[in-house]
Amino acid sequence: MVFDGVGRPLRAEQRTIPQPGPGQLLLRVQACGVCRTDLHLLDGEVEIASPPRILGHQIVGTVVAGDEDEDGRRVGVPWLGWTDGDCEYCTSGRENLCPNARFTGRDIDGGYAEYALADERYCFPIATDHPGEQVAPLLCAGLIGYRALRMCGEARRVGLYGFGASAHILAQICRWQGREVFAFTRPDDVKAQELALELGAVWAGPSADAPPEPLDAAIVFAPDGTLVPLALRALAPGGTVVCAGIHMSDIPAFPYSILWQERVVRSVANLTRRDGEELLALASRAEVKTHVTTYPLELASTALEDLRAGRFTGAAVLVP
Ligand SMILES: [Zn+2]
Ligand SMILES: [Zn+2]
Repeated sequence: MVFDGVGRPLRAEQRTIPQPGPGQLLLRVQACGVCRTDLHLLDGEVEIASPPRILGHQIVGTVVAGDEDEDGRRVGVPWLGWTDGDCEYCTSGRENLCPNARFTGRDIDGGYAEYALADERYCFPIATDHPGEQVAPLLCAGLIGYRALRMCGEARRVGLYGFGASAHILAQICRWQGREVFAFTRPDDVKAQELALELGAVWAGPSADAPPEPLDAAIVFAPDGTLVPLALRALAPGGTVVCAGIHMSDIPAFPYSILWQERVVRSVANLTRRDGEELLALASRAEVKTHVTTYPLELASTALEDLRAGRFTGAAVLVP
């Protein structure tokens, strides 16, 4: 399913199966998660420099070529598809900020396809025997949630603003770690609130509501800048608001008093391979179960529009 340009629907195209170059794996795609970033790409809020491009950066696939010893093993492909390896960020454990990074499904063809190529160095081994569609949402929704949670330090009471794919994974991890989760959703999204409570949240309610007790940290997953001052107001002194999306509408002006007392607002960008290794191990120990709605590959545009309209809870996954 090919992206041609902003404002144009994804288009099905029959291509010859690509051949792996040096260091690349050819994967037969088992499943590819649908991410809000894909909507931002579709809408031009995050730019695709050189379309046509195949979107999709939460790929679970089996190796069919490129690795003669281990054909048939299963790997996961995340958003971070390539880095230069020698800039000041790459050499200081911050490859997520590499200025020359290439991202899967933006700069490199991704997983909205039956086959995909990936640089072996950026793939993760997928050890579990869970179906591909269950694992795929861990590769961005889970991963970015995990990186955002790392920015929250030892926070015990964690607010999650926007209870979608990321939050439903992170809630399970938080609970397993003994943290308390407070889930904030759109006012009428009763289904997301119910899912949050089912997954162990101690409280769920509309984003404009104050939580029953002040939060040590809040992670904003929804791309809505008006949530940032709301989340700040919900924080205890010393608390942190982490903005976890790649794009957000403008943040409205707010009084200094809600930032005062060492509250912090920060963003989280991309991932490092270390984040991926840690999250996949943690998700396995915490026995995270993803709630997925699957779509056949050719309904990629439907999946994206359902995500935009909030028509499912949990995560959407394309299955070729
Ligand atoms: Zn993503
Ligand atoms: Zn670099």
